[in-house]
Amino acid sequence: MSLAIGLVGLGAIAKAQHLPAIAATEGVHLAAIASRNAALPDVPSHHGLTEMLAAHPELDIVSLCTPPQGRFEQGMEVLHAGRHLMLEKPPAMSLSEIETLRETAAQAGRTIFATWHSREAAAVEAARTWLLERKAKHITIAWREDVRKWHPGQEWIWQPGGLGVFDPGINALSILTRLLRDPVHLRSATLSIPEGRQTPIAAELTLCAGDTPVTAQFDWRETGDELWRITIETDEGDLAQLDKGGAEFSVNGVQICSGDNHEYARLYARMRDLVAQGQSDLDLAPLRLVADAFMTARFSTVAPFDTEAAQ
Ligand code: NAP
Repeated sequence: MSLAIGLVGLGAIAKAQHLPAIAATEGVHLAAIASRNAALPDVPSHHGLTEMLAAHPELDIVSLCTPPQGRFEQGMEVLHAGRHLMLEKPPAMSLSEIETLRETAAQAGRTIFATWHSREAAAVEAARTWLLERKAKHITIAWREDVRKWHPGQEWIWQPGGLGVFDPGINALSILTRLLRDPVHLRSATLSIPEGRQTPIAAELTLCAGDTPVTAQFDWRETGDELWRITIETDEGDLAQLDKGGAEFSVNGVQICSGDNHEYARLYARMRDLVAQGQSDLDLAPLRLVADAFMTARFSTVAPFDTEAAQ
């Protein structure tokens, strides 16, 4: 049996990752899409979620690839229509929204899956296993990219609920909270917001996991190559690096693991299995840290940033 998927929001990530991953995953198939602007040849295409749900009673799963703003209303509609719900990261705009989605899914007996694609990167599991046997003395996160390269024309990232630089930064936090056994707590945050914008372009966090200090720097003003790196120094003096967003892991300069990107195929396989087992998967740790950062931050206003300027 193959589970029928309806996909909402045909933007950058849906086209680059979700469509090929659905096509490559056994036991699921794309049955319909809802898009305000686009249609796919050979796939029934609807202008909105309501219309798609009404036209396709056979849909088992709805996968939301829209921005976080509005995802709560869409998710509630999906669950009230009796379908299983798969959420892009971040799973909602706020903790209260995602808690209500969780309760609604439980009451409806439907699966809800808050995906964290970076946790599925090729070398994350190797790094987690390696760290299980060791004690981290200090962890440093550097997550820097050019917002003009990675988010061209995406106004929603600068609007309330769009998270600003935490849109990529939450990927680092999703890996961090997977790597460590101890719960991670936020100690302090400085968020830099460009004049005329409503979300941060840069963030500096201090965190801790047990007695291990963690520092994180997220920045969207990088003009060189992107840097998505977590560095772990252990008590024994080893220096490990999880690099390229989790795709490569090395210890003391020796590569231990690297691999191709199958993040989204793994997410769809997991969703298929969760539905088959009647379970949900909703780890809110990364979103909680972002919420904590906004709650405790020292905010600083920085120079206006021109997203149209040449890279
Ligand atoms: P995007 O390119 O802006 O696409 C989002 C799509 O959602 C739009 O194309 C639009 O599709 C639909 N949409 C519905 N309401 C919208 C609104 N009010 N404003 C803008 N679009 C709206 O964004 P994206 O990069 O695909 O990101 C979507 C989600 O995936 C975000 O939560 C993001 O964090 C996550 N994500 C993105 C990436 C990445 O590299 N881009 C990677 C991993 C995860 P229609 O025109 O079809 O309606």
